[in-house]
Amino acid sequence: MREAHILIIGAGIGGLTAAIALRQRGFAVEMVERDPNWSVYGVGIIQQANVIRAMAELGIVQRYVDAGFGFDHVDVFSPEGIHLAKVPSPKLVDGYPANIGIGRRALHEVLSRCARAAGARIRLGVTTSSIDEQGDEVEVAFSDGAAARYDVVIGADGLNSTTREQLFANAPRPQFTGQGVWRHNFPRPPEVVSLHAHAGSMGMGLVPLGGGLMYLFLTTPEPGNPHYPRAGLAEAMRSKLRNAPPSVAAYASRITDDAAVVYKPLEWILLPGDWHGGHVVLLGDAVHATTPHLGQGAGMAIEDAIVLAEELERAAEPEEAFIAYRARRFERCRYIVEHSKAIGDSQLGLLPPVDQAKATREMFEVIAAPI
Ligand SMILES: Cc1cc2nc3c(=O)[nH]c(=O)nc-3n(C[C@H](O)[C@H](O)[C@H](O)COP(=O)(O)OP(=O)(O)OC[C@H]3O[C@@H](n4cnc5c(N)ncnc54)[C@H](O)[C@@H]3O)c2cc1C
Repeated sequence: MREAHILIIGAGIGGLTAAIALRQRGFAVEMVERDPNWSVYGVGIIQQANVIRAMAELGIVQRYVDAGFGFDHVDVFSPEGIHLAKVPSPKLVDGYPANIGIGRRALHEVLSRCARAAGARIRLGVTTSSIDEQGDEVEVAFSDGAAARYDVVIGADGLNSTTREQLFANAPRPQFTGQGVWRHNFPRPPEVVSLHAHAGSMGMGLVPLGGGLMYLFLTTPEPGNPHYPRAGLAEAMRSKLRNAPPSVAAYASRITDDAAVVYKPLEWILLPGDWHGGHVVLLGDAVHATTPHLGQGAGMAIEDAIVLAEELERAAEPEEAFIAYRARRFERCRYIVEHSKAIGDSQLGLLPPVDQAKATREMFEVIAAPI
């Protein structure tokens, strides 16, 4: 299938990784990204050893690590702020850290530069207007009036994927979990050199990032999924921090700019059946979006991209590749989606309390297995 001409819909974390992995195998890759400004919000993301291994496989690990902050364990605190455990994380690549905290914009910069340098053609401010199977090809019409035929189309268009909706009219829709996450960047104090995770009914933590920054996250119950207008976000986040332990609550008074607060309601989805229809296949959040309690959503999208590229290289026909890809990915993604959601449900009192240190240890074992 090396001659295949591939369209990727969505130039986010999963789509860009797929572009790099496919170009390295010689496929012709075009991408369309709906957002004309390709904007990425300014807080960070936690990534673990499986992502560092993935970046090494892509040949971009040094650039990636340089853009973030590496650390080798997670410090777990009680809800009152007492240090409970130092959970070591497995390293999977010699000479590189076990975890990275990285700004979303910094990660986007690394992936987008590498995708372009690898030869992917990326069109911004463009989406698909129709996708039609035509024999062995897919005919795609775009919002800018262009049209073209492809051998394979990859829907990497995130949680609210329109590609998923087009492929599977009866697919489940993303579901709100009852929680939301509040985030804000700060200059990193010297003592924050690992993820500081606070257990309890409200998950919260501090995550070191590159560039002398860290971000604070706070997971809160949000019954009824309220809409928070931008004006007033800083005050809302400050009030949510009222009952935080002193080491976290100390940051509240510095949250004054509404534009610097990032609030997201948490949603999840896992497609139980096929992840493809005809010559169109889905990856990342489009097919399995998780809550962030285990910090693995983007990690799963990145791994999907590499596995899909490997299977497309190996297969004689797209469908053979798509079936092998889903078989390699489903259980791992299901583990992350279900175990992350269980932590959130336990924080909401819907399940018995989850031992966060144990859950983190177990997750490290799972993600260390080969993809
Ligand atoms: C609060 C929160 C915290 C998180 N923290 C972490 C973390 O610490 N670690 C971690 O690994 N993961 C984390 N995640 C999850 C992570 O952000 C996602 O899993 C990851 O972004 C999925 O990548 P993706 O490429 O599938 O989708 P996205 O990153 O959402 O990219 C989709 C892209 O497609 C574009 N697009 C959408 N529709 C169209 C269309 N019709 N046509 C063209 N383009 C389109 C979008 O503009 C976007 O650029 C977190 C998520 C949340 C909500």
